[in-house]
Amino acid sequence: MSKFTPRIPAPAPHGNNKKETPKSTPVTINKAPPLPPLPAKSKKEINTISKYFHPKKNSVEITNHSSKLNPGKSYAQASKPSINTSEVLKIKETFPSLNTQKIEQVNNIVNGLNKAKPRIKMTTKGPSRKHIIISMSNDNIVSFMKNSSTHVANINRSLCNVKTDVLVDYIRSDNAGISVVVNKIAQQSDISIIDNYIKNSNDINSLQVEDACLPMSKSYLKIIGIPYHPYSDNRQAKLSSDDIQNILKQNHIFDNISLASKPRVIKVSPKSDMALVWIDIWDVQSGKNAKMLINRCFNVGNFIATIRGANMNPGVPLCKNCWKWGHATMSCRIQGARCVKCNGPHKSEHHREFGWCCKANNKINPPRLETKRGKPCPHTFKCSNCKGDHQADSVQCPFWRHRFNREWHVKKYTEIHENRLKSLCSSVNTIPN
Ligand SMILES: [Zn+2]
Ligand SMILES: [Zn+2]
Ligand SMILES: [Zn+2]
Ligand SMILES: [Zn+2]
Repeated sequence: MSKFTPRIPAPAPHGNNKKETPKSTPVTINKAPPLPPLPAKSKKEINTISKYFHPKKNSVEITNHSSKLNPGKSYAQASKPSINTSEVLKIKETFPSLNTQKIEQVNNIVNGLNKAKPRIKMTTKGPSRKHIIISMSNDNIVSFMKNSSTHVANINRSLCNVKTDVLVDYIRSDNAGISVVVNKIAQQSDISIIDNYIKNSNDINSLQVEDACLPMSKSYLKIIGIPYHPYSDNRQAKLSSDDIQNILKQNHIFDNISLASKPRVIKVSPKSDMALVWIDIWDVQSGKNAKMLINRCFNVGNFIATIRGANMNPGVPLCKNCWKWGHATMSCRIQGARCVKCNGPHKSEHHREFGWCCKANNKINPPRLETKRGKPCPHTFKCSNCKGDHQADSVQCPFWRHRFNREWHVKKYTEIHENRLKSLCSSVNTIPN
């Protein structure tokens, strides 16, 4: 699980933030010696310094005072009942070392004032900044990854030429693009070199490549106000993920935004004719990009779409090595690999050579012929998760349909485990003595 920023910000280290100093000085000064007077340059600074020379006041008095005058409070916050002095006194007696801000926080918690409204948590703490993400089309990913080791060597040569310390460790791919993993956080100049190399590579159609970026976080957004059947002349046609990508590309408000995954389109409700589009974007931890987009509107045909923040829901990850749900490919613990098609102990790409179904078998009736080289496997697949007749990453799989429902996944895997145990037990019981 990603960690979230605490709702109550920790007080800034004393004197670290110039703007904070005037607010916190009168209460945290208790024992600290006054700072040596410095030549003040502005009115603001004069005020700051003059506060150090105010006569020392009773801290409780200051508590009440500062809570009334706290300039950081909104009108709504200020209209809430003011602090009860006797309560504050009790807190101050019990915890003499607390400063005003802390006392106010404790008081708020005790009196239930701090029960924050459920706030949308839309930005995750993202992957390491040593990943340089380049979104590209599927064809590009496949052809680029074929020669990935050569590309790593070539990029590193270019990086060495400009005498930077950054080197590429390896390149990995996912369904949205590739990640170039480097040994330390890359500077813009390093990113440009990598970006340039990739776009000019022979394996790449550069028209289908986005600019390289250093991700830190993902933000989750939703778009409302778009019809689920967008074409008036074809009411059967549904809004697709590609339609959304095209719409976003055409709009200037998405100019500097990179999608972290394909947009997801669902109906607002089973009987609704409107769509709900979920988009995940690359962002910084403060959610800067998301904040810039939230509540902005744009045209989609006759309609006006609006962007809203969404609660972050990264979904249950599907391991692309063992094809089990619940962990990322990077943290897979199995030593080999499993096939997405038959769950056999081989890479999915090698299914034709190693999969049992594609091998000739004369012992069965009718005998099975070997699948021809270069031909796709014509046999029925078996999902390792639900045992259905599909690949383990199929959209038909119930695990896929519930990929944003962690509880469902946990329950399902527990069920599968229990059933396996039961069948094991019963098979043990039926062994004749
Ligand atoms: Zn795995
Ligand atoms: Zn296989
Ligand atoms: Zn086969
Ligand atoms: Zn399945």
